[in-house]
Amino acid sequence: MRKIDIISNQKKAWNVILSMHRIKVIKGDITSIAVDAIVNAANSSLMGGGGVDGAIHRAGGPAILEDCRKIVAKQGGCKTGAAVITGAGRLPAKYVIHTVGPVYNSGKGKVAELLASCYQESLKLAVANHCKTIAFPSISTGIYGYPKAQAAVIAMDTVKTFLAEDHEIEEVVFVCFDDENYDLLKKESG
Ligand code: ADP
Repeated sequence: MRKIDIISNQKKAWNVILSMHRIKVIKGDITSIAVDAIVNAANSSLMGGGGVDGAIHRAGGPAILEDCRKIVAKQGGCKTGAAVITGAGRLPAKYVIHTVGPVYNSGKGKVAELLASCYQESLKLAVANHCKTIAFPSISTGIYGYPKAQAAVIAMDTVKTFLAEDHEIEEVVFVCFDDENYDLLKKESG
């Protein structure tokens, strides 16, 4: 291996280590987190639903749904693995980034890539909107049935990889609603 490649690999490894210090795992309700953007595990209609989606719309009020309606009118919803951004209504966050996780047993294959894409696309949208801090729920691990241990590995790996390349985002918070997700993500964060 050439010396320049060794240095470049060392730099990449160092960036991954540094990125770990910009990740926080907490237990709580994402609607109460004061970050630049919180991420919603939405469905492709963007018209609200159960779980974290319902909680965000309830706490944030009708302004979020109004913004979602405008997006739907323009582009007709949001595809699995993609993300869109709206205001955050009454929430303490500035924005809500709505991403659509894969349904684990949808038989569509590529669920891991689609779940990783949710994290990547949300982070890209956060950077494009000058967000420095962002909070994620455990996408797809509720109604969409993704096994929590597998989802935690994908979530953490994807965020660490992104942070190693990106220097705009200062902090990523994983907000876990249940002990199982908290323990899994905490383990993966180390
Ligand atoms: P999905 O359809 O993507 O599975 P869910 O909303 O059913 O979305 O669940 C995603 C994750 O969000 C689950 O782990 C669930 O426990 C969690 N969750 C539900 N409500 C909240 C909340 N208020 N804050 C943070 N996480 C939440």
